[in-house]
Amino acid sequence: MALAETLDDHVTNADPQTLTDGFHLLIDALKLNDIKTIYNVPGIPITDLGRYAQASGIRVLSFRHEQHAGYAASVAGFLTKKPGICMTVSAPGFLNGLTALANATTNCWPMILISGSSEREVVDLQQGDYEEMDQLAIAKPLCKAAFRILHAEDIGIGVARAIRSAVSGRPGGVYLDIPGNLLGQVMDAVEGEKSLVKVIDPAPKQTPSAEAIDRAIDVMKSARRPLIILGKGAAYDQSDDIIRELVEKSGIPYLPMSMAKGLLPDTHPQSASAARSMVLKDSDVVLMVGARLNWLLSHGKGKQWGEPYSKKFVQIDIEATEMDSNVEIAAPLVGDVGSVATALVAAMGDSWQQPPSDWTEAVRNKVQANVERMASRLQNNSTPMDYSSALGVLKKVMADKPDTMFVNEGANTLDFARSIIDIHKPRKRIDVGTWGVMGIGMGSAIAAAVETGHPVLAVEGDSAFGFCGMEIETICRYNLPVCIVVFNNNGIYRGDDTNWSGGEDPATTVFVSDARYDHMMAAFGGVGVQAETPDELNTAVREAIESRKPTLINAKIDPKAGKESGNIGSLNPQSAVAQARYPQAVKH
Ligand code: ADP
Ligand code: MG
Repeated sequence: MALAETLDDHVTNADPQTLTDGFHLLIDALKLNDIKTIYNVPGIPITDLGRYAQASGIRVLSFRHEQHAGYAASVAGFLTKKPGICMTVSAPGFLNGLTALANATTNCWPMILISGSSEREVVDLQQGDYEEMDQLAIAKPLCKAAFRILHAEDIGIGVARAIRSAVSGRPGGVYLDIPGNLLGQVMDAVEGEKSLVKVIDPAPKQTPSAEAIDRAIDVMKSARRPLIILGKGAAYDQSDDIIRELVEKSGIPYLPMSMAKGLLPDTHPQSASAARSMVLKDSDVVLMVGARLNWLLSHGKGKQWGEPYSKKFVQIDIEATEMDSNVEIAAPLVGDVGSVATALVAAMGDSWQQPPSDWTEAVRNKVQANVERMASRLQNNSTPMDYSSALGVLKKVMADKPDTMFVNEGANTLDFARSIIDIHKPRKRIDVGTWGVMGIGMGSAIAAAVETGHPVLAVEGDSAFGFCGMEIETICRYNLPVCIVVFNNNGIYRGDDTNWSGGEDPATTVFVSDARYDHMMAAFGGVGVQAETPDELNTAVREAIESRKPTLINAKIDPKAGKESGNIGSLNPQSAVAQARYPQAVKH
């Protein structure tokens, strides 16, 4: 019989001072492993767990919906390299949190979803318990690992297992199933303390062999038109100095993926961001640093990559099976970015040849031409604002306040902001990630504020904001320094679509015209402002960042300014039949 059960029988006679329980063991196990924050939505059976955790000194932030608590936890994981913790109730709360857990796994961010669950005996016989669901089975295919703890004396090892699973190798989401009656189990306090485990070296460093490094150096030396691509795996690794040294010593133009922006400032002379199409097409050797050749990079092949002409890839990734996922990797470097970059810099030695200057100059000229072409659009002061004129203002704010955390989601709002807004420091940009998911904004903004203490500027399409807008109450409740700018163009993609049947219902992609999202913020005691001009937007944003008061700015954007699906319209399915039937149909 398990130790906890034996003791349970004697609990009524025992001195509570010499005992502990599942609640406290779980909290102690998290604290022992330096977990300082829990992103929570209270309810049966974890309401008291949240209370006791808060009483014990953990910061417990309660959200209005589990999905956003989950997104917050995942972003905390990305920013801190420690698993972000999300805590939910059973069945529906668990499912809400599971979206975020799957998203964390897809993005390779460490997170642990702790959900309370119903009585195992009843669930397994499907006898109809309160919020009955076999949560462990459902979570398994959607995350990196999933565990259930049944006995109080296993909490220490179970939490340790969850933490190591989340952060080691390729980071990801872990599900931890906590049946309600585990929390009430009682055991001897001294035995309980002994059962806790502090994880030793949770994410071991890994260096490739000298042979692998030499192979990579040979490929890089053969390049006439080399390119470096930095991904969010590089940002996650927090080895910013050695990454910068690698890029600068190599002299190779680099392209940051959206959340790797700022690893080197976007204004860096080697940045090829504004010449993206050119460098993807014309490069001959590409060094991938913590970035995958997935849809965001056209899978490393096709016209965008200059096919039929072929190129060679060198790839740094902690996950061995990422190699050859889409195209052949000529020189795989399996290891953490910091260790591999250090080995590469050492192997480059003192006599490293800079890339041919005709290539680096061609890239620089292209960057300059594109930046100049853009500049006038950013200064347009006309009303209503379009994406460029509104973002021109925010670009200057980010340059003046480079510590500000920048959160960004939407379609056009995302695509324009990603290319217009320079990021000047590492891990300052949080966005829709690998899935391109909408609704991450408020959870991300909350985690960014809580984990870094810096002010947050969240630039949100009105549609994206709708997925998570209720969390502005959470922002006001915890008085977080978050300034939300809703780019309000009255709809999804554009705000001027009409019902093609001629009927009374609005079109499927439009919202209430001229909605006042700023009034929502005022309802919770935050600052709500409407901005119709770039000047008004500028004043309101600067005031919000300065005051650190929760603020929402309703930025009126021309309903005609956006395009269908932003930059990824080509992903929409096409049908010649539908095009013929509806003359209004958008050609992608
Ligand atoms: P992006 O979307 O910015 O291109 P991805 O999310 O596609 O970036 O790729 C990130 C990659 O980084 C993943 O393949 C992941 O395995 C890898 N990775 C994550 N952490 C590390 C690390 N510490 N060192 C090396 N690679 C890492
Ligand atoms: Mg919109």
